[in-house]
Amino acid sequence: GFKMGIVGLPNVGKSTLFNALTKTAAAQAANFPFCTIEPNVGEVAVPDARLEALAAIAGSKEIIPTRMTFVDIAGLVKGASKGEGLGNQFLANIRETDAIAHVLRCFEDDDVTHVEGRVEPVADAETIETELMIADLESLEKRIANLARKIKSGDKEAKDAVRLLEQAKEALEAGRPARTIEVAEEDRKAWAMLQLLTAKPVLYVCNVEEANAAKGNSKSDAVAKMAAAQGAGTVVISAKIEEEISQLDADEAEMFLDEMGLEEAGLDRLIRAGYELLGLQTYFTVGPKEARAWTIRHGTLAPAAAGVIHGDFERGFIRAETIAYDDYIAGKGETGAKEAGKFRVEGKTYEVKDGDVLHFLFNS
Ligand code: GDP
Repeated sequence: GFKMGIVGLPNVGKSTLFNALTKTAAAQAANFPFCTIEPNVGEVAVPDARLEALAAIAGSKEIIPTRMTFVDIAGLVKGASKGEGLGNQFLANIRETDAIAHVLRCFEDDDVTHVEGRVEPVADAETIETELMIADLESLEKRIANLARKIKSGDKEAKDAVRLLEQAKEALEAGRPARTIEVAEEDRKAWAMLQLLTAKPVLYVCNVEEANAAKGNSKSDAVAKMAAAQGAGTVVISAKIEEEISQLDADEAEMFLDEMGLEEAGLDRLIRAGYELLGLQTYFTVGPKEARAWTIRHGTLAPAAAGVIHGDFERGFIRAETIAYDDYIAGKGETGAKEAGKFRVEGKTYEVKDGDVLHFLFNS
């Protein structure tokens, strides 16, 4: 599955958000820096109204959403890259994620201590980015030195790795994160293997006051501007509101959102934004037993998409019976879609589209 790491300075609302996301009390929110010292991992259902619509038509007994993993990575402070306090373990935890949700404090509250004594989200973002860049520089200098020996013995992979590492080094030394580097198609794999912290896609999560949850405030506006300049994403959220919503049942939550003038829960937007950031999409399998959503990257071909369900589906792949989501709904199911000529048989080179309803045929 895909994993997002939640990072940010202490006391910006990470644990509050993580708790709301996972509805557990595991990561305890407290007005005290360093309150969460273990990385907390939570699996979250990806909300998708299409799944319910499909299940209703097919009369599916069970609805199984696709899931995303969130990791609450606390303890990143100024000096983390120097191993001060909780540093290095946290950097290792970030390394294992696919993307970073960077929570920034955009709310004023004199009762909640700010580690730097002021609420400046853009400066906070730079503080953390700097730590990550220093950590990247240190790790790549070590790696370049280690690879030098291999290059002498003519290792082609080592040579490619060093070329990419040198490129990253140049950017980092100029104060630019590794994600600003344009990587050639043929280098993508080697680049990903380097696992640089600042190469990961970033989503800035602006934690604003309850009253500004719908529109954000001047601080979140400043973050959005910074994010746009970096090609990063932004989501405005009120962790406090999300915390309250997470304790309500579905109907109550709907009413609460209405009263706050919000169309949907911020967490839903957060998960979707994470999905977009990672270039992910969903396909469905639908039957009387279950309606289920599956996550793949954009551009995934049918056999690899089948492989998400089971390795045998990919190895023995024959074809994929395919109905686009809209056609399935318009036809009120498979029979209607077939009658409308919207039922397709796709082969090994078919690029699965978001919302496809698929049925795989395979040799076992
Ligand atoms: P973390 O250290 O980043 O994990 O921060 P926490 O989630 O533990 O939050 C730190 C403190 O800030 C707690 O007392 C929270 O209740 C409070 N807090 C979190 N989000 C908000 C918010 O949106 N508004 C206000 N006023 N307080 C918040």
